[in-house]
Amino acid sequence: MKLTQFYLPTLRQAPNECDTISAKLMFRAGMIRKVASGIYEWLPLGLRVLKKVEQIIREEMNTIGGLEVWLPHLMPKEPWQETGRWNVYGKELFRLKDRKNSDFCLAPTAEEIITGMIRNEVRSYKMLPLMFYQFGTKFRDEIRPRFGVIRSREFYMKDAYSFHRDEKCAEDYYKLVYDAYCKIFTRCGLKFLPVDATTGAIGGKFSHEFMVVSGKEDNESLAGEEIIVFCKKCNYAANIEKAECVNFSSQVSGVELKKLEEVNTPSVRTVEEVSKFLNQESKNFIKTLIYVSEEVIIDKNKKDFSNTTKSDNKKIFVVLVRGDLEINETKLKEKLGVNEIKLADNDLVKDIFGIEVGFLGPVNLKLKIASYDLKIIADKSVYELKNGITGANKKDFHLKNVNIYRDYKPDLIEDLRNITVEDVCPRCGNGGLNFSKGIEVGHTFKLGTKYSESMKATFLDETGKEINFVMGCYGIGVSRVVSASIEQSNDEDGIIWYPAIAPFDVYLLPIDYKDLDIKNLTDQIYLNLKDKKLEILLDDRDERPGVKFKDADLIGIPVRITVSKKLLPDNKVEVYIRKTKEVRLVLVDKLDEEVSGIIELLKKI
Ligand SMILES: [Zn+2]
Repeated sequence: MKLTQFYLPTLRQAPNECDTISAKLMFRAGMIRKVASGIYEWLPLGLRVLKKVEQIIREEMNTIGGLEVWLPHLMPKEPWQETGRWNVYGKELFRLKDRKNSDFCLAPTAEEIITGMIRNEVRSYKMLPLMFYQFGTKFRDEIRPRFGVIRSREFYMKDAYSFHRDEKCAEDYYKLVYDAYCKIFTRCGLKFLPVDATTGAIGGKFSHEFMVVSGKEDNESLAGEEIIVFCKKCNYAANIEKAECVNFSSQVSGVELKKLEEVNTPSVRTVEEVSKFLNQESKNFIKTLIYVSEEVIIDKNKKDFSNTTKSDNKKIFVVLVRGDLEINETKLKEKLGVNEIKLADNDLVKDIFGIEVGFLGPVNLKLKIASYDLKIIADKSVYELKNGITGANKKDFHLKNVNIYRDYKPDLIEDLRNITVEDVCPRCGNGGLNFSKGIEVGHTFKLGTKYSESMKATFLDETGKEINFVMGCYGIGVSRVVSASIEQSNDEDGIIWYPAIAPFDVYLLPIDYKDLDIKNLTDQIYLNLKDKKLEILLDDRDERPGVKFKDADLIGIPVRITVSKKLLPDNKVEVYIRKTKEVRLVLVDKLDEEVSGIIELLKKI
């Protein structure tokens, strides 16, 4: 490809809104442009990388028997209603109506559609197992799109769905997919880690997230928003959303319960302020948080609580956690069985309780509006806390020596908090947990019969009995793989591509393409390397060498060949390896061998 016939609008500076290294470099290298918040165009250079990742995935999916299909992006409401996900999915689902006023959504995943596709046609166990996959655009109405294409509203994904006759077959196949995913990410040159994960809105029995972790010493340099916890002793690794907290057992027994006491705490509200004021550690506090579901917030806007029905009453939750710990909203939603939950703001808390949030506590907590039904949900850390401090439900007062069951009774005690460095490993029980940022690039789920049951998708076994398909589903964020790869591999000059997904193999850079000798040799090299199936970007622009070198570094093609006047008499050219910055002077006759050798070598480091 000649650069004068290509489209490579490189930029000296990334737009200010770019919040990650990968977004900055993708803009600067002319890979993507933004259309609207969370919506991007992929330019020719970017698309070449995307297509390479896609092809690696396709090959590995085919190897494990996957069959490629094309499913619609515009999906009718009905199958989504059958599984209940039309209501479950919440605000992230893009919903729209057609001219007849029928409801549709833009695909976030395709379990319903694919289950509908096979349910009346795959009737015999003899046709199983089956795995279908597709590449396509997926949609998610992110509340806050960010990190360029890492968290966007429209993204490119591979999604796959498998159908099995029983649990064992599904589990065996899950392992095959797991191994295929490891091969895919290895072939893409990523440093990654499969971790135990929650199943979220997709549901199912167990799942793994494939997380790209920082390739550098400094974890902060990676743009990941997911936090992964590792055990130093065993090989446990989990998303922080999922990691189970094992109790702090040391505080439980042998503590004398003191007399409940009210203390004046004028104008101090937060745990930090009150702990300073009372000279107490924050871990002696019971933090009281009020969570509400969407419906309550809508009611609040109407300022009309009187019409609240009994079922709505369950949607206000008083959540208690030890003062130094944080509530994990994923765990909370799961334990409460609700889809969306929000921390109530101060105004809403005042509306509901008549008290400021800083003075709330679980002891004799009363509602301003009697029709509400109060549920107190405690994290296990609160169960273990003796003689705690909390709000007195009275302005400018707190309570000391508060004890569970004696002074208040929670409706539910569960593991609801984020794991911390002070916790022990939930698997081996040892201390010494590590935390790291990560970017989720793949996710595998063993679904079981969740979808086949709700959609009545069955086949006949040997005895003629109707059996529900056992399913699995498996996603890879193709566009995310591209940005994760850049996050892992870059320097101050630009991107450093891993050869297997690089947009080109070689950047061919004649110092002066108008010089006939240079042009002749450059063209000869170009044709020769093209014959060897190498992909070449020939910088035939009439630009200063400095501009060409800067662009070559920025777009990060693994090998750069510079054709200059001074090496012509020796019939040599300069070969530069982008990753190692090594320079070699190579005879033109040996060039194809040398370049192929370098590319093979780069795949191993
Ligand atoms: Zn462990």
